[in-house]
Amino acid sequence: MTELEQVLPTSKAVHPSISMLKQIHKKSLEDPEGFWRNVANELYWAEKNGPIFKPTDAPPYGKWFQNWKTNISYNALDRHVKTWRRNTVAFYWETENGEKRTVTYNDLYNEVNRFASALSKAGIKKGDRITMYMPMVPELPISLLGTLRIGAIHSVIFSGFTAQAIQDRLKDSESKIVVTSDIGYRRGKALELKPAVDEAVKNSPSVEKVIVLKRSSNATNMVKGRDISYHDFIATGDKYIEPEWVEGTHPSYILYTSGTTGKPKGATHSTGGYMTWVYYTQKVVFDVKDEDLFWCTADIGWVTGHSYIAYGPLLTGITSLMYEGTPDYPAPDKWWELIERYGVNILYTTPTAIRMHMKFGEQWAQKHDLSSLNLLGTVGEPINPEAWKWYFKNIGRETIPIVDTWWQTETGGILITPQPGLALVPLKPGSATLPLPGVEPDVFSEEGKPAKPNERGYLVIKRPWPGQFMTLWMDEERFTSVYFTRFPGIYYAGDYSMKDDDGYFWLLGRADEVLKVAGHRIGTIELEDALISHSAVAESAVIGKPDPVKMQVPIAFVILRPGHKPSPQLRDELAGHVRKTIGPIAVPEMIYFVEKLPKTRSGKIMRRVIGAVVQEKPIGDVTTLEDATSVEEATKAYADLKAAMRGSVKSK
Ligand code: ATP
Ligand code: MG
Repeated sequence: MTELEQVLPTSKAVHPSISMLKQIHKKSLEDPEGFWRNVANELYWAEKNGPIFKPTDAPPYGKWFQNWKTNISYNALDRHVKTWRRNTVAFYWETENGEKRTVTYNDLYNEVNRFASALSKAGIKKGDRITMYMPMVPELPISLLGTLRIGAIHSVIFSGFTAQAIQDRLKDSESKIVVTSDIGYRRGKALELKPAVDEAVKNSPSVEKVIVLKRSSNATNMVKGRDISYHDFIATGDKYIEPEWVEGTHPSYILYTSGTTGKPKGATHSTGGYMTWVYYTQKVVFDVKDEDLFWCTADIGWVTGHSYIAYGPLLTGITSLMYEGTPDYPAPDKWWELIERYGVNILYTTPTAIRMHMKFGEQWAQKHDLSSLNLLGTVGEPINPEAWKWYFKNIGRETIPIVDTWWQTETGGILITPQPGLALVPLKPGSATLPLPGVEPDVFSEEGKPAKPNERGYLVIKRPWPGQFMTLWMDEERFTSVYFTRFPGIYYAGDYSMKDDDGYFWLLGRADEVLKVAGHRIGTIELEDALISHSAVAESAVIGKPDPVKMQVPIAFVILRPGHKPSPQLRDELAGHVRKTIGPIAVPEMIYFVEKLPKTRSGKIMRRVIGAVVQEKPIGDVTTLEDATSVEEATKAYADLKAAMRGSVKSK
């Protein structure tokens, strides 16, 4: 085991970098005003009146930078074009079919001003909402920054969503303008976006204008008086517009959560706190240097793309790669080829993508020189130690750190993570390690008492932090009931978790997916990790099925690695493996072999859908599913096996 990958013997003296980080953390909690003032002073504010933080009686129990004024587009652009960064690259953009563009800070500044000015001339004012339904093209961050420049609020809808999903979100946000594109590219296909927008806008009376970025030479249906091409639109703008200086608590954007757990919620973010948080986390988590080339593989439709494609890199003035395409098209080495060709230094991706690459095999990465990489990151789901080790070995040369970053749409930016920009603590595969300065997480028992070390419970954040969302759009009540009622007055994250003797946090899946088997609680991820640690298993999903005696029994779905075939022997072997790794209580009642698992477009397994299949219930809203055939697959696997077993033979 290398120095980075060590598992700390918990009885030993505290590692110096851990005590250093804990010192910084302690200071940030003792003097938040001083701590955040130092960070905020690295950014530009038009006014700095009064305290940075003011406690309040109602959730989220505080306001950040309430009487300070700033503008995010000014900090992301104007601040840089006044310096040597002016002609440095903000984005290298490339598509899966090789289309390329290089956008400098000056280019971005010019185009954002035009867009913002055109919006203003179209009558858009501070506080108005603008919706984006766009593929991964530079015009997306341009329209986001243009919106914020005039104090309007953006709402990005992932470009894979259906007309119904767009309509629901347009209605909730009462957007005046929709920015879209005729097509987007995905796995060699041109996907039309405009028809879904047309359908959604029909029933959205708030929408006055649809701005359409034309990418293909095919004709696009344009509604007279309502639709305008992106290029005609920006031609109406001036080359400069003064930024609107807004209060720190002015909303910057609404982002509807991905819907893994049900009806979307409109997380509403601030300006001052959000900007400070993404700037700070981009610096200390990714330890960025001026010359770094950063690549976050997310889509801007998700919060990760907002914070670490659109805002974090630009606020810190670095260069990013922006890619429109999937990891496996035209071949499974696409990513590694891009990293080699551009010389990417920092790669930020998801456990799902890593498991996908594991399944393809390391030979694809080995074809390329990945030595430019000096930091790796993951986000979105707990990373199972197997995937962590594969990433570390095959992509990270067993020498570069992995930052496993825990956060949510609601948190605005990363909260629990290794922090190489402050002090790199020894890493433990599968743990997100320690909280950032200003963040006070804990693990609570069912009854709301702090859990003891190594005891499982519910993740809470005990005080407001600058990046925290301010509310759910137009739904104060749901905001309070979802996040501040489970443990009154304290932010409930909805994740199952554990803190070890070193104070490291382990995220164990969603709280509402925890299995309760004969009085024991088991995180879904603990069981899935155990299955994936068997050499035949590539991916797995575990859900709890109601059981009259045990309350719940675990049911597992697994995808095998290439070269392994489903068989009753392998099923028994996997059951035995779980028995050995976790214990007899955790052995799944049934293990089903499948080719695909139902996942969201952002790659997360939808256990809710699998649960419905197993319980033969309606599967509910699946508009965010990556691939509808995965549901048929799970249904078929379940029916086939049930028939074969005739309910008699069980796996233990
Ligand atoms: P919805 O809230 O609509 O159900 P979602 O929770 O999947 O969707 P996000 O806000 O993108 O939407 O995801 C946040 C969740 O992702 C966290 O609550 C956690 O469950 C999981 N997560 C993110 N990063 C990590 C990580 N590093 N380790 C473990 N889990 C993580
Ligand atoms: Mg969530």
